[in-house]
Amino acid sequence: MLLPRFDYSQPQNLEAALDLLNSHREDAKILAGGTDLLVRMKKGLITPKRLISLKSLKELSYIKEEDDCIRIGAGTSLADIIASGTIQNGARALFQACEKVGAVTIQHHRGTIGGNILQDNRCHHYNQSDFHRSGRQACHKDGGKICYARENADRCNSTCQSDGATALMALGAKLVLASKENERTVDLDQFYTADGIKPHAMEPQELLKEIMIPLSNAQSAYQRLAYRSAIDYPIVCAGVHLKPSENQKDQIEDARIVVGAMGRAPLFLAQAAASLKGKSIHDETAFQKAANASMDSAATFAVHNVGSTLEYRCDMVSLMVFRALKEASQTLENAKD
Ligand SMILES: Cc1cc2nc3c(=O)[nH]c(=O)nc-3n(C[C@H](O)[C@H](O)[C@H](O)COP(=O)(O)OP(=O)(O)OC[C@H]3O[C@@H](n4cnc5c(N)ncnc54)[C@H](O)[C@@H]3O)c2cc1C
Ligand code: SF4
Repeated sequence: MLLPRFDYSQPQNLEAALDLLNSHREDAKILAGGTDLLVRMKKGLITPKRLISLKSLKELSYIKEEDDCIRIGAGTSLADIIASGTIQNGARALFQACEKVGAVTIQHHRGTIGGNILQDNRCHHYNQSDFHRSGRQACHKDGGKICYARENADRCNSTCQSDGATALMALGAKLVLASKENERTVDLDQFYTADGIKPHAMEPQELLKEIMIPLSNAQSAYQRLAYRSAIDYPIVCAGVHLKPSENQKDQIEDARIVVGAMGRAPLFLAQAAASLKGKSIHDETAFQKAANASMDSAATFAVHNVGSTLEYRCDMVSLMVFRALKEASQTLENAKD
């Protein structure tokens, strides 16, 4: 499979990149590591007229602690995140998620965290070559009126399979989006549209500049299930975040549960997490109840298009959430020493 023709720009600083994006808008795509974008271009899924490469923008590659936050430049490689003590200690779920992305070659040579959370949604039927798709009636994402993933669906049901997005949402991350005229900060849990055709609430002239993770006394964990431990995308994953009370360190003051690879966006399950408030960090019965509630909520949004059966993936939600909660509680216990 060959890449289609495109124009290429390699700006030397952020200002020049934003100028280019502002001029070319919908015609342009940002090229970070290219491990998602170039594959989609080769398959004929998208044909941008211009690629704007971030290769020379060293200013987008950093991890630092500042103002009670961990700040990560969008162009930071997954390998740098995995190797960072700041991430391992302050955002463990993200460390665990990045360690599981694709394969070592993707983590170490090209893949960035920005590209990870902005990768396009995937679909078993759609993510094929253009030759394969040309033999079938066009689906919503190809401009048609049907969806192969769900009968009678009036919209695209492609799935967000980003490991990083699920972990970062559990950590309560925010995104800094920059354009030539403006800079805005959005909560990651408000950023996904649940529209499989345009999954992110990002304007064409915007670039993801930074990811901010609030620091606290909380601990997080990430679990995922995939066919193989390397190369394959998750078919179910879960990120959790447990915050203990300042005065009673054995009591959960706040919790976040996010389930990924089940729907059009990572699923932020506020109700299931709320059931943990006031419970002991050792209360496995409460963890199991929250895990079962997560499974019930996720089933409502679940889409059958990542290969395995929907029933199996729904059942596995409970196990992934329970394991993640147990692990986060163990890390909280260890942090008391
Ligand atoms: C074999 C294989 C296995 C994989 N397995 C996994 C997996 O298990 N889990 C997983 O999560 N992913 C997986 N991926 C997807 C992908 O490799 C990773 O998500 C990677 O982190 C993407 O980063 P990138 O820098 O290469 O993104 P790119 O391909 O460069 O970009 C992805 C998208 O984000 C946009 N973009 C990137 N950076 C910015 C920015 N700063 N501002 C605005 N837009 C931007 C691009 O325009 C593009 O649309 C896999 C890919 C392959 C080929
Ligand atoms: S989920 Fe449906 S509409 Fe979306 S890409 Fe797949 S087949 Fe097409």
